[in-house]
Amino acid sequence: MKIAVYPGSFDPLTYGHLDVAERASKITDTLIIGVAENPMKQPIFTVEERMEMMQQATRHLKNVRVDKLEGLLIDYARKVGAQAVVRGLRAVSDFEYEFQMAMINRKLEDRIETLFLVTSENYSYLSSTMIREIAALDGDITPFVPEEIARRVKEKMQNENRNRPRSSGGIRD
Ligand code: ADP
Repeated sequence: MKIAVYPGSFDPLTYGHLDVAERASKITDTLIIGVAENPMKQPIFTVEERMEMMQQATRHLKNVRVDKLEGLLIDYARKVGAQAVVRGLRAVSDFEYEFQMAMINRKLEDRIETLFLVTSENYSYLSSTMIREIAALDGDITPFVPEEIARRVKEKMQNENRNRPRSSGGIRD
């Protein structure tokens, strides 16, 4: 039984993330998508919201389940009995950070492998940061994320704008 963990913030999930999840689900018996709480990153969606959106978006993948990822990735992977961690690679720019993380994780636990999957070229330029920036400037994000996600991002941005003090008109990160 090969179990892999696909960790990330997914804030919000994009077609790039879904492409990686679909590819990973084909080569594992069980794929656990670990949605990281990541308080350091000040996400726009809570971890529960991100989990729920991921659950909906992956419901067609029968061997995928979505879980909250708290604490160190490698501890989590050990706890769920995973043999591998899956990460997506978009471009050369991802490589350095991902390589460093894979090496550190191997030092911490050498029985868990990191698998890098290369996304479809259609999605290789997508990032959650870009999506948030486009949405904050009222752009159309429907080419990049499922419709339901686009709707929820828009709703979130509108609520944020309403609650934001008038003096701070900037966009996040
Ligand atoms: P993190 O906060 O860990 O960077 P992300 O949600 O940004 O989490 O990304 C999770 C994983 O998905 C990472 O391995 C990242 O490289 C990968 N990823 C993000 N966007 C894409 C994409 N467009 N194509 C392929 N992989 C992607």
